[in-house]
Amino acid sequence: MPYKFTFDISKTPHRFFTEIALASYNRGVHKVFLNTLHDIISKFRIQEATGLNLDDSLLLIQDLIDIQALNLMQRGKFLQTKKRALLLPHCSRKYMDGRCKAVFDANIPTYVCAHCSPDCDVNKATRIAKEKGYDVYILPGGSCVPKILKTHNYEGVVGVACGEEVKMSMDMLSSMDVTGQSVPLLKNGCSNTVFNLNTLIKTL
Ligand code: SF4
Repeated sequence: MPYKFTFDISKTPHRFFTEIALASYNRGVHKVFLNTLHDIISKFRIQEATGLNLDDSLLLIQDLIDIQALNLMQRGKFLQTKKRALLLPHCSRKYMDGRCKAVFDANIPTYVCAHCSPDCDVNKATRIAKEKGYDVYILPGGSCVPKILKTHNYEGVVGVACGEEVKMSMDMLSSMDVTGQSVPLLKNGCSNTVFNLNTLIKTL
């Protein structure tokens, strides 16, 4: 959980994400962009909803916009890739204790979902991605990513992670000539983290 703060914007209205997408187009015009960040924070009451101070709210929203912009920039190239992987965070599993029947394979390292809970988003994401031909990894942490990418020579990777982790991974992906698409967590933390499954499905 690289952010020094926790947040939950999973209940934010859908319009919020539309505004994030629109703002990504205006990124680069500094004054306009800063005003846009303040507008979004104020309009969607992000500080009240998350309990974050203004600086942390700005960082969170800026990262969401940056991720959207990076996704847009890389989308064309990503769609050309053939060998792909989906990287999911283990903290989005329905259970983090023995009720999760996933088996941990330390050699990779990844959890392998046993599909024990139909309403587990990691389960749903795993099934859908595999149907689309992806290899799926449920990672205990971001430090596992380089080993997985080096071992399998993936051309395209979809990663679900918090905004700061996504941004940290981008340089690594480009140095390995891997094209990435990201789905940001809407609620971070050490467990019960949340991502938007529909956004992920559209991204795959
Ligand atoms: S469905 Fe998979 S990831 Fe979810 S709790 Fe069960 S084994 Fe774990």
